[in-house]
Amino acid sequence: YLKLEGVRKSFGDTPVLAGVDLNIAEGELITLLGPSGCGKSTLLRCIAGLTELDSGSIRLADKELTKLPPRSRDVGMVFQSYALFPNLTVSQNVEYGMRMRGVAPAARRSRCEELLALVDLEDKRGVYPQALSGGQQQRVALARSLAVQPKLLLLDEPLSALDAKIRKNLRAEIRDIQRRLGMTTLFVTHDQEEALILSDRICIMNQGRMVQEGSPEQLYTAPRTEFAARFMGSYN
Ligand code: ATP
Ligand code: MG
Repeated sequence: YLKLEGVRKSFGDTPVLAGVDLNIAEGELITLLGPSGCGKSTLLRCIAGLTELDSGSIRLADKELTKLPPRSRDVGMVFQSYALFPNLTVSQNVEYGMRMRGVAPAARRSRCEELLALVDLEDKRGVYPQALSGGQQQRVALARSLAVQPKLLLLDEPLSALDAKIRKNLRAEIRDIQRRLGMTTLFVTHDQEEALILSDRICIMNQGRMVQEGSPEQLYTAPRTEFAARFMGSYN
């Protein structure tokens, strides 16, 4: 469904993505796990079209994305910092992408209500982001990215700014929403526990390359490299 082949990107003469191959099946949740600076965010930005790659191919549902502008890619993205529009209310934030795409007001409103129900924030529809907690802002960001019915959801450490308890609740909630919608999802984290709990499959990345991929059990019990073993915490 999502197929990356030989994706390369350098900043200056520093290679950040050194030929990345990745396949995600429709409806699957894949976690991309790797140390700080290994290129995870850069890879997501390339898929979303926010960063141009040097070479390689990215196909989503049989469409070559690299030739399309970001807004034609059918990709939703939630970042680590939740960057809602501060001057728009919760429902205006959620409706923003639909408005840009010319969805009629009535359809926008009903879709927005559906999504606010999904993230359990119906009572906050009229408030501004500054009046929300971090976790609530993340849920609005999630609803906003789902509003335009993306074919692929990219989550770049969406929980890292939150404290442990909210983080646990919200990751369960994200998993639940992802399953219910059958949404193909690429989830970035450097939290091994989070990866083990959430994923259908885990891909470990290091220095711009995929090191190993497999089910959470496979990676934990049979890491193929010392790096993967250390990283999964199954190496003593
Ligand atoms: P983290 O877990 O800390 O978020 P990451 O795996 O997401 O790390 P990236 O943000 O993809 O890492 O960055 C990978 C490398 O590319 C880093 O060394 C970073 O300094 C470099 N880099 C990223 N964006 C740029 C840019 N716009 N210009 C120059 N270098 C960049
Ligand atoms: Mg990052």
